[in-house]
Amino acid sequence: MTDTGTEATRTLATGAGAERPVALVTGASVGIGRSFALALADRGHDLVLVARDVARLEALAKEVADAYGATAEVLPADLTEPGDLARVEERLRAVRAPVELLVNNAGFGTYGSFVELPVEVEEREIRLNVVAVVRCTHAALERMVPAGRGGVINVSSIAARQPTPGNATYGATKAFVSSFTQALREELRGTGVRCMVLEPGFTRTEFQQRAGIEVEGVPSFLWADPAAVVQAALRAFDRGRAVCVPGPLNATTAALASVTPGVVTRRVAAALLRRRPRGGAAG
Ligand code: NAP
Repeated sequence: MTDTGTEATRTLATGAGAERPVALVTGASVGIGRSFALALADRGHDLVLVARDVARLEALAKEVADAYGATAEVLPADLTEPGDLARVEERLRAVRAPVELLVNNAGFGTYGSFVELPVEVEEREIRLNVVAVVRCTHAALERMVPAGRGGVINVSSIAARQPTPGNATYGATKAFVSSFTQALREELRGTGVRCMVLEPGFTRTEFQQRAGIEVEGVPSFLWADPAAVVQAALRAFDRGRAVCVPGPLNATTAALASVTPGVVTRRVAAALLRRRPRGGAAG
């Protein structure tokens, strides 16, 4: 955690509504997660905001209280740390102010030759992008399934659709999230609980910078704003979709990748990688 260690959940700002359903968003401090928090508050949810950067979460809690009358709990956590993760799981199991919607959004990528990347960071990437998603989903469903209502949105990537040389671990973590969520979707049929996987393409957030990915060569038409990605996701969730790939270009790319032989998709991905400058790892 970047700020206050293992500080307990704090309620920062109290809005008006007692009956507002609660949504817990991981990685809410910036990027797609922050856009989820704002959009869900606008739709009438109260929030539990999870990430490491307490100052950003506190500012967001105040923003959603002022703009939407939402109550926002700040739950600082480094989801790669088992103790912090356990506190988030505990919140997801709570029956008081129960979490009706879980958005597993926190994630980071590493970029470069796998053998040259520090294996500790690769492991941390798996702990955040996979282990935290599995454990948070399980904790949420333990309460939601008996209650017969609730929802989970897991944020994956179109990188899930094919092996990604240069992002080998990242792509594999997202393939896990997409497969896992779609399997759960069928297991949950008839329970009153829904889940959906969101597979965005290039989105203007801090993601690429944190991963050390050089994006100068990426054409502007490939980029989406996080708010637009989230609006597409929530519309798809409302419609009961299992998978949301926001944007027609991403949807076409994802569909093509799904029907193209692996030998082609991985070689195309490797060729594209060779055209990009070498990156690094961050998280
Ligand atoms: P971002 O701007 O870098 O935001 C990442 C969020 O995750 C931040 O709120 C960060 O907060 C949080 N986070 C990182 N490490 C964490 C940790 N150890 N514990 C708790 N929270 C942590 O990136 P983003 O684009 O919004 O990414 C959100 C999701 O979208 C990720 O799962 C990513 O894989 C996916 N995605 C992004 C793109 C894209 O092009 N941006 C494309 C496809 C999929 P703190 O630093 O405050 O902890």
